[in-house]
Amino acid sequence: MEFNVLVLGSGAATPTYARRCSSQLVSICGTRILIDCGEGSQNQLRKYHQKLQNVKMVLISHLHGDHFFGLPGLLSTMHLLGRTEPITVYAPSGGREAIELLFSVSGTDLRFPVEFKVLDFAEPTVILKERFYNITAFPMRHSLPCYGFLIAEEQPLLNLKPMSRIRYNLSNVDCVRAKQGEDIELEDGTILKNSELTMPPRQPRSYAYCCDTAFDESLIPIVHGVDLLCMESTFDEAFKAMAEERCHCTASQAATIARKAEVRRLMLTHFSARYRDVEPLIAEARSIFPDTMAAEDGLTYQIEK
Ligand SMILES: [Zn+2]
Ligand SMILES: [Zn+2]
Repeated sequence: MEFNVLVLGSGAATPTYARRCSSQLVSICGTRILIDCGEGSQNQLRKYHQKLQNVKMVLISHLHGDHFFGLPGLLSTMHLLGRTEPITVYAPSGGREAIELLFSVSGTDLRFPVEFKVLDFAEPTVILKERFYNITAFPMRHSLPCYGFLIAEEQPLLNLKPMSRIRYNLSNVDCVRAKQGEDIELEDGTILKNSELTMPPRQPRSYAYCCDTAFDESLIPIVHGVDLLCMESTFDEAFKAMAEERCHCTASQAATIARKAEVRRLMLTHFSARYRDVEPLIAEARSIFPDTMAAEDGLTYQIEK
């Protein structure tokens, strides 16, 4: 089952040639979810061979321009290309009004519905529950209302052992009940223990996106144990005071969250444009959490156990 993230932009604040503004495309179970949409994200989607119209949902962490200014342009292009499919946009309060004002003054009358959902929670909140996955939004400490996102697969059903169906002549209903963990009673009254029929399923995978945020240990229980944590690291430790003042993290702080949250892997993103080479930040983080990598525009990262 696909579950991966394509990084479209890994830079902070101002785009550079190597790193565009924040945006990622998550693919899960055939659904394309855009997380953040900095300026130029639609160009990045095209550059990396993604169909704009496949985006079903947009999650906007906060309304700073480097996470949000690409959204009106993207929606406008979808309109011009003839989209009729609805799209859902989750954003903090004000996002809807900003987009509607732009479309009003530009005389843009979208031919497809945009369903805006306001992120306004003091506690982690499940914002979407699908059959195979769910999305939780959680507030973070930043200079504007800002939310992180946790995308987690639902616990898969048990797997039927090979030959169970044929051996016991199970009906479709019996198979479903067995996968749900039930014992099965045959017509002659024989009880088949569930453990005879099924095998454990694979473990569900999870991905967390925390960008932008100050260092905040209250994130630890929320992202605990995720398979991939994408965490902002705008600065290195030499700029710790500036990071705190601007409500951002250093690479060491991101790694500290990863270590304490016992995540599987850490991906750093949202690098300040002052760093042409982010290797020192990665090295800094690896001294605390070894399995750290840098997000790179155009690369796809698998969410795996
Ligand atoms: Zn930012
Ligand atoms: Zn910000």
